[in-house]
Amino acid sequence: MADSECIFCKIAAGEIRAVKVLEDDACVAFMDIAPLAEGHVLVTPKTHAVTLDELTADQAEAMLKHLPALTRAVRAATGCEGVNILQNNGRVAHQVVMHVHFHIIPRNSGDKFHFNWPAGKYPPARAEQLAEAIRNAL
Ligand code: 5GP
Ligand code: ZN
Repeated sequence: MADSECIFCKIAAGEIRAVKVLEDDACVAFMDIAPLAEGHVLVTPKTHAVTLDELTADQAEAMLKHLPALTRAVRAATGCEGVNILQNNGRVAHQVVMHVHFHIIPRNSGDKFHFNWPAGKYPPARAEQLAEAIRNAL
């Protein structure tokens, strides 16, 4: 189902122009309009869903199966040294467009894209406790 207010649904339906690199029945990949680096590509399912966890496994597979080839193609076309695959869920996680999408972001040494990665440490038994809670929720 499409959302009539959603910009990526409109791109998927061909109602808004985008510079596409791949399209099939379930998925469309296109150039990000405000790239973090040259060759920044977005990969979206044609079905409207806000966050990744709203997708069925089949819907996710239909999009994710293209990621390796798209990443190889971005690498080949840009000659980048590395790639970040990024996927934001929720405003707090920097999601701006509320239609699930993966970013393919070319990386080069000295580029301007930086992570704040505040690695922490678990107190004793906390990781096991959380793992059990996650297993129980699967
Ligand atoms: P988010 O922060 O939601 O993960 O990323 C949304 C991305 O969509 C941003 O990188 C932004 O530049 C891109 N974007 C937003 N609107 C459009 C649009 O109309 N066309 C294209 N091609 N990209 C868009
Ligand atoms: Zn949508």
